[in-house]
Amino acid sequence: MIRKGIKLYSILFGACPKCHQESMYINKNPYVLSDTLKMHDHCSHCKTKYQIEPSFFYGSMYVSYGVGIAFAVAAFIIAYELLGLSLIAAFIAIVVTLIALMPVIMRLSRNIWINLFMSYDKELAKKDNGNS
Ligand SMILES: [Zn+2]
Repeated sequence: MIRKGIKLYSILFGACPKCHQESMYINKNPYVLSDTLKMHDHCSHCKTKYQIEPSFFYGSMYVSYGVGIAFAVAAFIIAYELLGLSLIAAFIAIVVTLIALMPVIMRLSRNIWINLFMSYDKELAKKDNGNS
C-alpha cells in the first residue's frame, strides 16, 4: 500500500521527501498552470530546503524524459492493443496524453528527482512543529 514513509508516497503526492508531512507545492492542483511549478522554499514541518542548490530542478528534465516515455508507452498500449485503434489514432492518443498530462509529468519528475537525493527520516517526521 502507498503510505507515508515510503518513497512512492512522496513521489505520487509531492510530499516533502524527508518527512512526508506536507506538500512541496504551493497549490496542490497541478492543473492551475501558473502554479504548476511553484514550490515552497522549505518544508514548514521539518525545515528541509527543497532547492538543494541553484537550478537544482533543472535536473528533473532528464527524469521527465523517462516519465514522458513511460506515459507514451502506456497510452500506446491502451490505444493500440486494448482499444484496437489504428496506428495513426494510437499516435494521436500518445500526443494528446502527453499534452494533457504535462503538468502531472512535470511534477512527477520533480518528485522523483528530489527523492533521488533525499530519503524519508522518521525522526524528522515525528518532530513537533513548534519546538525546534
Ligand atoms: Zn518536511
